[in-house]
Amino acid sequence: MAKRIFTESDARDLLAKGGSAADVPAGVLLTPSARDVLSAAPNGHRSPSPWAKAAAPAASGSPPPASEPILPNYVYTWVPGSDPKTPADIERFFRSAPIEELKQRMCDIGRRMWEREYTDGNGGNMVIRVGDNLFLTTQTLISKGFMTPETIALVDFDGRQLAGKYKRTSECMTHLAIFRNQPKARATCHAHPVHATAYAVANVRPPTCMIPEAEVFLGQIGMAEYQTPGSPANAEAVGRVAKDHHAILMVNHGVITWGDHIEDAYWKMENTDSYCKTIWIASQLGNGLKTITGGQARELIDLRKQLGMFDKRENWKECELCDNSEFRPGVVCVNAGSPPVAPVSSSANPADEEALVQMITDLIMEKVARS
Ligand SMILES: [Zn+2]
Repeated sequence: MAKRIFTESDARDLLAKGGSAADVPAGVLLTPSARDVLSAAPNGHRSPSPWAKAAAPAASGSPPPASEPILPNYVYTWVPGSDPKTPADIERFFRSAPIEELKQRMCDIGRRMWEREYTDGNGGNMVIRVGDNLFLTTQTLISKGFMTPETIALVDFDGRQLAGKYKRTSECMTHLAIFRNQPKARATCHAHPVHATAYAVANVRPPTCMIPEAEVFLGQIGMAEYQTPGSPANAEAVGRVAKDHHAILMVNHGVITWGDHIEDAYWKMENTDSYCKTIWIASQLGNGLKTITGGQARELIDLRKQLGMFDKRENWKECELCDNSEFRPGVVCVNAGSPPVAPVSSSANPADEEALVQMITDLIMEKVARS
């Protein structure tokens, strides 16, 4: 009797049921595509795909067998090549326990964004990648503070809605452009937090080297040129910047961040707005802004690398790391009878300093001439 052929579809079925290459029956002949599918799956993967009929374990938070306490893992993972394809499988996947858990988490984070005043009206949106070509997204025209799991939709890379009764957000394509350009991204978060959005409106990139945690967890904040929200041009601009930056200010619009999971993307939103708020307040204190040194910044960038986060400044010279010469906090106070006091950052341009000295000299001379 001829040996049975084990096809690509057999391999996908096996992986979907939680099997691995080790479970291929003895004596069968593997087709080349079946071999490719099995070798692309993580070694020893035993947990069933979330859309398998059998009850699947939660995608996150399940305690590991190790006795040592470790950090909870909220990263959603899937077996490459195992996306559900038929409408029935897609619906089953969309209603599975791990996906319901993610929908609930999106609602919780939406409430946190709204309570912190990061969103107003129907502003803000979130996306989580849950497959090679599958993404959970918030619906359009909904307050992020009052979402329920049934408002979440499922879309593919082209933004086509695959499941969910409410229409997906119109800014979906901007989020998808991040996933397209940045394979490390697993979740994205967009909002209009007041302080960071003020920088976006003023077209001011927040300076670097002011607060160590921001250097480690945010890195340098990126700037994406203004384009109409939700337009292909906006998606293109944001996708390009997301290759190098976890947090992006969309000029005249707001902030978009990406991370390993939705909580991580949201933390970057909090980090960005708090950082912008602190720099803004510090710039009003009239004493200039002090930066750490390039050498100290280098240590933080190394720490960032150890935590598994890339940094585009990795190979920059130390003298370039804390160059904030573009940052202009502006005049902070002008008292009658006294010259304006302008904050000067540690890396101020000598030409600007000269202009400032000249302006003060002119004011004094004018006052002397009048007295
Ligand atoms: Zn927006």
